[in-house]
Amino acid sequence: MKFILLAVLLALQVENAGAQRVCGTDTYKLDHYKKTLRQSTENFRIPPRDTVPNEIITIPVVVHVVFNTSLQNISTDQVLSQIEVLNQDYRKLNKDNALVPDAFKAFAGDTRIMFCLAQVDPEGRATNGINRRYTSKPYFNADDGMKFKASGGVDAWDPDQYLNIWVCSIFGRVLGYAAPPGGELKKDGVVINYDVFGSRGSLQRDFNKGRTTTHEVAHWLGLQHIWGDDFCGDDGIDDTPRQKSYNFNCPSFPRKTDCSPNDNGDMFMNFMDLTSDACMNMFTHGQKNKMRSYFALGAARNALLRSNRCDASMASAGPLPDDTIPKKQQPDVISVYPNPVVSDITIHSKDSKTLIGKTATIRNNAGVAVLTKTLKGGDEKLNVDMLKPGFYILTIEDNAEKLNFKIIKL
Ligand SMILES: [Zn+2]
Repeated sequence: MKFILLAVLLALQVENAGAQRVCGTDTYKLDHYKKTLRQSTENFRIPPRDTVPNEIITIPVVVHVVFNTSLQNISTDQVLSQIEVLNQDYRKLNKDNALVPDAFKAFAGDTRIMFCLAQVDPEGRATNGINRRYTSKPYFNADDGMKFKASGGVDAWDPDQYLNIWVCSIFGRVLGYAAPPGGELKKDGVVINYDVFGSRGSLQRDFNKGRTTTHEVAHWLGLQHIWGDDFCGDDGIDDTPRQKSYNFNCPSFPRKTDCSPNDNGDMFMNFMDLTSDACMNMFTHGQKNKMRSYFALGAARNALLRSNRCDASMASAGPLPDDTIPKKQQPDVISVYPNPVVSDITIHSKDSKTLIGKTATIRNNAGVAVLTKTLKGGDEKLNVDMLKPGFYILTIEDNAEKLNFKIIKL
């Protein structure tokens, strides 16, 4: 038995030539996931309903961009690209679905599940569905810190109304992880590393088509990994073949092992394997039915059927402003003296480099510039002999910051 395990590990190492997908959902389930009795936040004015067979289910999404650096504060276009990928992958509209091998083509399913960015926030304000919040944490561990304001993250929006997606920097190699259905509401949702989210932007080479989110959202909708997280395991889905273990990179078809039920081998192009983004392209009908079962009456995702959070007409107030990266505090770095001034005013900085390239402008109280100088560093003197006595504003600025000093000319 030991020998077999060693052989398997060696085989895995040999194949591990490129970056390997690391999904944190299994570790998360072991360490942080607790099933709970749901504290219902249901709005009883709208009675619950069951799914209508094959209806298109549209899930309102909020993307919490939890950033410490401008790189982590991903663009709106990058977020939009991820919503596009989700809608293509879940509706079988992804172009690379054409690459599904003929032997598996009949198994590929359109889940008839779609995603929309929220247009109304939990307080009834308008939103574009992207909640940009600054954090002082340079990164988070895969242990839910990003899901709570108290630990530097952002609190979940009501998970009965929204799919919460936290996009942040996750420490280590984990690309993302999901909370499966039935867990604690305030931890419900998925977490995705900022450099594997979406299909446009600055992304990791092997994970640049938004499939990390496709995969994690499917865990959030109750799917297991296709190998059932066990050697020759079963994922509980009838139309996915039994698989020896996970695959990564881009295997070629057919990939047969001694667990393969027939010559078709592994369904390594399934979104629930661990292959590279460019090599996964399908859900099966069985996976579709499993995910949709969570929307049935009494099931964990049922309340989302009644969410109207993508209806902009429901908003009754303007949006909350986005956070930006706070400017560094610069206490007394630049000083101006004497003040009041008779003839020469000195601009002094503790670090003379601070002044290089900045512009000093003196304006009268009508706002008209009466003196402008580009600073070269060191102590700078401005001669103000020609100014009439009175109040002036001296502004020292560059593209990044602007400091104002009120000065009195005698
Ligand atoms: Zn996974």
